[in-house]
Amino acid sequence: MKPGRALIIGGSMGGLCAGLLLLRAGWRVMICERAEEELVGRGAGIVTHPELSATLAACGIAPADALGVPVAARRLINRAGETVLTVARPQVTTSWDRLFRLLRRAFPDALYARGRSLVAIERPEGPVRAHFADGSTEEAELLVAADGFRSTVRSLLLPEVAPAYVGYVGWRGLVPEAAMRPALHAALFEDMTFYLPPGEQILGYPAAGEQDDLTPGRRRYNFVWYRPVAAETELPRLLTGISGRRHSLSIPPPEISPAVIEELRADAERLLPWPFAELIALCPRPFLQPIYDLAVPRMAVGAVAFLGDAAFIARPHVGAGVSKAALDALALARALEQAADLPQALSAYHAERHPQGLRAVRQGQALGACIDAAGVGQPDPAARAAARNPAHLLAETATLDFLAR
Ligand SMILES: Cc1cc2nc3c(=O)[nH]c(=O)nc-3n(C[C@H](O)[C@H](O)[C@H](O)COP(=O)(O)OP(=O)(O)OC[C@H]3O[C@@H](n4cnc5c(N)ncnc54)[C@H](O)[C@@H]3O)c2cc1C
Repeated sequence: MKPGRALIIGGSMGGLCAGLLLLRAGWRVMICERAEEELVGRGAGIVTHPELSATLAACGIAPADALGVPVAARRLINRAGETVLTVARPQVTTSWDRLFRLLRRAFPDALYARGRSLVAIERPEGPVRAHFADGSTEEAELLVAADGFRSTVRSLLLPEVAPAYVGYVGWRGLVPEAAMRPALHAALFEDMTFYLPPGEQILGYPAAGEQDDLTPGRRRYNFVWYRPVAAETELPRLLTGISGRRHSLSIPPPEISPAVIEELRADAERLLPWPFAELIALCPRPFLQPIYDLAVPRMAVGAVAFLGDAAFIARPHVGAGVSKAALDALALARALEQAADLPQALSAYHAERHPQGLRAVRQGQALGACIDAAGVGQPDPAARAAARNPAHLLAETATLDFLAR
């Protein structure tokens, strides 16, 4: 089909990948991002996959140096901090900021508008008219909803689809490598390291440092501690900020109450092997991520295509958030290039990416079954026991192998 004008809502990973690929295919692209400030400084660690590097290359991005920190293996430690299982798995881990900056630098500033929040959509069947909070409007033949797990576009066009809390949260954080004493560094830094407290899971891996630094000594170590949190009682308490505001789906890190962080550190001392307890004590600002499942029934409505977390949320055990958004963008760009018209392109896009999104959600549910939570999509006791098989967990976490099966 002949490229036209594409309006992309959301200027994070998915929006930037789509923007870069559509620009290269001859589309007139505009990205509208709600945040007033650049998005850097708010993310933590990211596991990369070869599929992500291939998509970056298709976007015209070839990092001058490595994408992140090479990790050779996954290791399980026991309560005493000793290694009890090792699974070889070479992989590259990095920081969200480093990936974002690579994409953002490659995209023209003139086509990236910050502080523009979409509030309404007219004529989703196309040409789409988008209305923004500042009163402005834009028209386009194609609107790409890359506006993340709280997607405004999805709530307007598919109001029945909403993220479902799964009964546990991930506490995340980054610790500067330089702050880790040699014994702690040796215990954790080189690998993806796991510990399985009863009914919970914690893992850590290296990430790029501040300003994307990959120099040994200036990198950081990322952790994610998955913990059951009851939806009706505990979660509202954790999501109530220091300002007294009760946040709904997630809480901005600066809003998290210091008392809640102190509880986390005390629990870490009580429940975790010394390397993870020490790591959490060193973390300047751990932050909280409630975990959700979400699946759209279709990848497009009229001339609006859903992409990344706006379409599917797979739990972070899959480690696929960024790669999934990038692969969606790649499939969308290819479908547009190969089809005769927009309906045909979006139907091909749906056929390719919807089954993959569903599989990623199911894989996240299967891996998350090891956490003793009472939320949606919970497994029976046998499935929970199977999910706690350490060899299986170490081999399956943060890989896209399941897509090939
Ligand atoms: C600042 C930030 C830090 C993150 N850090 C991590 C991390 O450390 N580890 C991790 O695994 N994942 C992280 N994520 C999530 C990760 O980026 C996604 O899971 C995945 O990459 C899919 O990306 P996405 O582009 O679909 O959605 P997202 O990355 O969630 O981006 C959605 C974007 O849409 C914008 N937006 C939302 N509503 C509107 C609207 N109405 N109008 C205009 N714009 C809108 C948001 O501001 C956001 O920039 C982070 C996301 C953000 C935004």
